[in-house]
This record gives sequence, structure tokens and C-alpha cells, in this order.
Amino acid sequence: MNCELITKERAGVINPIFTCQPAGAQFASIGIKECIGIVHGGQGCVMFVRLLISQHLKESFEIASSSVHEDGAVFGALNRVEEAVDVLLMRYPDVKVIPIITTCSTEVIGDDIDGVVIKLQEELLNTKYAGREVHLIPIHCPSFVGSMIHGYDTAVRDFVKYFAEKGETNGKINLLTGWVNPGDVTALKHLLAEMQVDATVLFEIESFDSPLMPDGNHTSHGNTTIADLKDTANAIGTLALNKYEGAKAAQYLEKEFDIPTIIGPTPIGIRNTDTFLKNLKRMTGKPIPESLVRERGIALDAITDLAHMFLADKKVAIYGNPDLVIGLAEFCLDLEMKPKLLLLGDDNLSYAEDPRIKALQENVDYDMEIVMNADLWDLEGRIKDGLELDLILGHSKGRFVAIDYNIPMVRVGFPTYDRAGLYRHPVVGYAGAIWLAEEMANTLFADMEYKRNKEWVLNVW
Ligand code: SF4
Repeated sequence: MNCELITKERAGVINPIFTCQPAGAQFASIGIKECIGIVHGGQGCVMFVRLLISQHLKESFEIASSSVHEDGAVFGALNRVEEAVDVLLMRYPDVKVIPIITTCSTEVIGDDIDGVVIKLQEELLNTKYAGREVHLIPIHCPSFVGSMIHGYDTAVRDFVKYFAEKGETNGKINLLTGWVNPGDVTALKHLLAEMQVDATVLFEIESFDSPLMPDGNHTSHGNTTIADLKDTANAIGTLALNKYEGAKAAQYLEKEFDIPTIIGPTPIGIRNTDTFLKNLKRMTGKPIPESLVRERGIALDAITDLAHMFLADKKVAIYGNPDLVIGLAEFCLDLEMKPKLLLLGDDNLSYAEDPRIKALQENVDYDMEIVMNADLWDLEGRIKDGLELDLILGHSKGRFVAIDYNIPMVRVGFPTYDRAGLYRHPVVGYAGAIWLAEEMANTLFADMEYKRNKEWVLNVW
């Protein structure tokens, strides 16, 4: 019995699990109020990413492109950035934050966006927009390394680095949620409120589950303000829930401003939510209230009804964002399930040093495979080669494998666009544990019925 961490041996990627770095930077930037990013590259680098985020959240929002064409790709395209900043500022009088996000093409041609930012500050902002608060922030996203995860992590770090400003201690904690859904933010805020912890939830996208109001439809934007970002330097501590999505910013704040930092665990499942609450207690001195002990009890009760009878020994494949995949695998193990295959869509070398992966390697008592730089072809290939699965957990891009091989699937992660309202349901916290366990069970129940596989059990349960 062993648990191997391997890298895909085949060259090339077929049906990727992740998209590229600028996608992550764009997702981070939509969490900031009065912010519209400019992606410096071809229009597709925005068009497809914006479509993906929009399909996932079912909301409209704005991101700009410098729209580089052939001449720019040959002779350099910094003039397009200058024009884009000017147009954006003219068209959107409320915009204050403009990240300039590079792409593979503009990194390869070597466009000096740091230099053009200095030039724009000295010239355009000092003349045409004198007196207006504008922040231009270069964010380097060479898409030929890393993935959207790396891009998110880098962008969060660069925003914090740009704004963080030492002042009076604010008595709050910084909460870096990582790449989550509006429903996760609501669940996390609920836990913070029950603990009476004053926190700045950063890159906060709760309002992307936005109402349709009588005065018309609006574009959505995040809730993190410039003041929030400046104040990150004055917190009593930082909790970064994900190791690969936000930890760089937490480490920067610790190094630069001596702010105590705890990274992880992603609060998926009972065990990790318990640790999250204990970390909050450790950082703030606030006790865990009876109300949360009760919520935990409700979650345990819901899980007890399902785990041993229906979920035990079910073989699962999980793919997607690494913190999500690891958190889901840990939760599945607590539910007596057997995660057999974990697919991570990039080749981050630090996965091998991740203590959660090491714990899996030390503790699982059956064969499990963790594949780095994996794609959905790996999932399909292993099924073709005889890997038996009862359930697939992952985002919507893998749905065709589930359909073709008649394996039930629970949509989780980013993007999930082929099921209604998933962005509203948390996977974190006790509420997330209930939702995940019941969603997995209900998916298996439907499968039992359609395949006439012991469906009579459901009548006597
Ligand atoms: S890989 Fe390059 S060209 Fe393609 S979307 Fe990403 S940044 Fe744009």
C-alpha cells in the first residue's frame, strides 16, 4: 500500500485542469473596490477568463485589455498600456486602482511595465489627472510558468505589498480567504461573527452573489477597499487559509511588519474547521462559543447519518486547486471514503514538501496516487486502464469524463458553470461540511437509483 506523488510523464497537456497566471491575477483584482485591471496582452487573455469567471458567478463585471496586436508583438506595446490607462480613467471616474497584469506575450517581448508605470505617474497622472487618487500596480504573470494559482498568489502579494502602510494597531486580524466562492465568504464571516472576532476579509467577493434591484442591473465588484489594504500592516495577525492562494502576502506582512501569521489549514471538513477556530482563538484570545459547538454537533450528526452507511469505502478522484483538493481529500478520509487519485494541475515543486501531502503519504492504508502537472487526460487514462471510481469531485471542465464513463460527479471548485447556484454554497466551515457530505451522498443516491444498485436501501434508511 502506498501513496505516490508523481509528475505526469507525458509531454504536453490535454484538457487542462488550470488556466494561466493572468486568470488568477484577474480573479484577485475583482475582489477590490474601485478597481479595474488592465491585462497587457491579446484580447483573448481577458475575454476567455472574464467569460469563465462570469459563467461561474453568473454576474457581470469589468476587466480591460491593452489589446496587443501584431505590431505590438513585434515592436513592443507599451503605448497600448498608456492609452488603456488613459481611456479607463476617462471612462470610469470612480476607478482608483489599476493593476497592470502582464501575459505570456508581453513578458516574452520584454515590455517594461514597471517603467511605464513610473512614466505614467510622472506624466499622465501628474497632468491630465492631477489631484485624482490613482494607483497603478504592475503584476507580472508570465503564463509559461506556474498557473492561475500562482497568478492569484502573486497578485494578492503585490496588492498587499503596494498598499500596506504602518500606522496604529487596529486590533483586527487579516483574513486571506484564497480563491473561494461568495458562499464561502458568507460562511467564514458567520464563524468570525460568532467568535466576535474583528477581521478584515481581504479580496472579498461576497457581493458577487448580488441582488437584482428595482433601479436596474449593475456590474459587481469586490468589497476590499484601499483603506483595508493599507491597514493590513496594522493587524494583530494574519490568517491565510490556503497555502498556495494568499500565503505569499501573509509572509510578506510577517517579514516586513512583524505580523504573526498562521497559514492554513483550508477549513474544509470538521477537523480543519476546528483548527481554524482554534487558530482564531490563539490569535485573538476569544473563546469558541457554545453556538459553534452546537453547529459542529449538527454537522457531526448529519455526517454520522451518511458516513458509515453510504460513504465508507467509496473510491474518489479529486482534481482542481491544490488547497481545495487536499482539503477535500482530508475530509473524504474522515468520512471513511477512499480518495484514490488526486490531480494537481501544475508542477509546483513545493507540493512535495507540503506537510498535508506528507501526512497522506504516511497515513493512507491503500493505494493512492497524487499527480502533479496533471490534466483531465490523466483522469480519463487511468479510468480506461481500470481505475474503479464511485465518485469524481472537481470543476465543470471534467464533466465529460464523468458523463462518458458513467461515474457520478459532484461539482466543486472553479469553474462550476453547469449546475445552478453552486457559488452560493460554502465548502468551508461546518456549513460546508454538511453541504459537501450531503451533496456527495445525494449524488450517490441518484446513481444507485439509475443503476438499480441497492436502491431499495433508500426505502428503509
Ligand atoms: S496562455 Fe498567454 S495568450 Fe493564452 S490566455 Fe494565458 S496569457 Fe493569454
